[in-house]
Parts: sequence; structure tokens; C-alpha cells
Amino acid sequence: MDCIFCKIITGELATEFLAENDHAVAFRDIAPNAPVHILVVPKQHSKNIAELTDVASQTGLFDLIRQVAREQTDGQFRLQFNTGEREGQSVFHTHAHVLSAKAAS
Ligand code: AMP
Ligand code: ZN
Repeated sequence: MDCIFCKIITGELATEFLAENDHAVAFRDIAPNAPVHILVVPKQHSKNIAELTDVASQTGLFDLIRQVAREQTDGQFRLQFNTGEREGQSVFHTHAHVLSAKAAS
């Protein structure tokens, strides 16, 4: 499978992780839409949030989203899961966008 986020997770595509736990990683979006724009990505491949059925991955993903929001934003942020091509999804490996106008001080 030719999945860019799987390559980032395995290290084949070198990317700096801002945070990581057993089930998910977080890194900056390459084309940010906000002053803080971080992707939080489950390590196990699934196509989108509607197909992320593994409970350990769900818990790990949301734990890391909370950590990133706490560490990288001022506490106010938006969380977005684009699901399906028509709704703006371009990478078909589940990921959350954490977006905020203000970084943590
Ligand atoms: P989506 O459009 O919801 O599928 O989001 C995919 C996001 O991945 C886009 O915002 C891209 O800018 C971002 N992206 C694509 N390739 C990379 C990469 N190598 N490193 C970081 N972000 C990426
Ligand atoms: Zn993948």
C-alpha cells in the first residue's frame, strides 16, 4: 500500500514528531491553514475516522489530541476529520487536524 502517513509512521519519510504515544503520532501539517496546524494520526492504518474501529487506537488518538491541544495551543482550538474526497480528504489514512489561532505561550 502506498500510504504517505504509513511512511511517516515507519520513518521511511523523515518527519519530526511533536508528540507520540503507543497508538498515535503528531506532526506539523506541511501546508498550514492556521498559526497552529498539527495532524494527529493513529499508527494503525485505517482509511478515515468512520473506519477507525479499533478501541485502543481510538483511545490513543484522543489522548494524543488532548495532549497536543494542551501543549501546542492556548486551549482554544478546532478539531477536524475530513472524511471522503468530496469533503476535502486528500490523504486516506485517518488523521485529525488540530487548528488554532494561538500557540501555547
Ligand atoms: P486532508 O486533506 O484532510 O486529507 O489532510 C491531509 C493533510 O496532510 C493536508 O493538510 C496536507 O497539507 C498534509 N500533508 C500531506 N503530506 C504531508 C507531509 N508529508 N507532512 C505533513 N503534512 C502533510
Ligand atoms: Zn496508512
